[in-house]
Amino acid sequence: MIDLNGKTAIVTGGAAGIGAACAETFHRAGANVVVADIDKDAGNAIAGRFGERGVFQLTDVSDAANMESLVEQALSHFGGLDIMINNAGISEPLRQMDFLDDDFGLFDRLMHVNLLGTFLGMKFAGQAMRERGCGSIINIASVGGLHAGFGVPIYRASKAGVLAATRNAAVELARYNIRVNSIAPGPIQTQMAASGFPAKIAKDASRLAAQLMTDMQLLDRVGQPDDIAAAALYLASDLSAQMTGQNLIVDGGQTVGDQINRVVTMQTAFENLMAAETASGQPAAVSGLGEA
Ligand code: NAD
Repeated sequence: MIDLNGKTAIVTGGAAGIGAACAETFHRAGANVVVADIDKDAGNAIAGRFGERGVFQLTDVSDAANMESLVEQALSHFGGLDIMINNAGISEPLRQMDFLDDDFGLFDRLMHVNLLGTFLGMKFAGQAMRERGCGSIINIASVGGLHAGFGVPIYRASKAGVLAATRNAAVELARYNIRVNSIAPGPIQTQMAASGFPAKIAKDASRLAAQLMTDMQLLDRVGQPDDIAAAALYLASDLSAQMTGQNLIVDGGQTVGDQINRVVTMQTAFENLMAAETASGQPAAVSGLGEA
């Protein structure tokens, strides 16, 4: 069991999903937790469960003054800051087509919350940690920032930015004994993930969306917010004392390789073609190779 007794953590976006799981996990490990979110009711409800070791601070991570007071709150309420989890993030609706007709109306908001919010969190937490000569900053990125795909291109770019910002901050802050790492979750069953699916599927998020999410990865198990909280706990603790500038991928194997056996699939397709040719005496039609 990792013991964070006497340590103080800030979790942005701590009122729901992955952030709420991080807040709960860190509280269970003995830490004081500052829950920061734009959702006052949900944030207060979570922090309220932590008794004297919890406090909620209404915070928009894209606002510098908000982020400065958030760190001040941790210092004045709990006397210090040891762990900063820059988790708050937003996505964009999945596009049916590519982005050629996009007006990029969501660009500023997405970049401000996901990327500027991470920079501001690292800045103000880093200033407080520099005073103490230690600290661990954990940025929640996404596998979407590691590889390309259809839909959510601005989100992917913002998360690629988070990965780069993490490595750069690790270089700059190592001299103050501040470690900076990121976590790249794959599909995790939260409100954000459900809202990425068409309404009909999202409504039945617990079953259909979960099935779609597991279909994207190797392990036949849908990722849960607690899976990311466990990785964050490790990165916050001294067990990861020799790690900085790293990205921990927690994705059920999504980015490791194909979830289908391509060799078997191709061999079966080839055998089917041969059988069709033998049966008809004509060259078989090859689909998917540009033939009308
Ligand atoms: P969620 O939507 O369930 O929760 C996000 C929380 O952030 C909410 O409480 C929301 O109120 C808060 N928030 C939104 N904008 C904010 C702002 N400007 N300031 C402060 N708080 C704000 O999302 P989630 O799935 O728990 O995602 C958390 C993080 O994990 C995000 O950065 C997301 O990009 C990342 N992530 C999620 C998944 C996934 O599949 N769920 C996958 C990869 C990465």
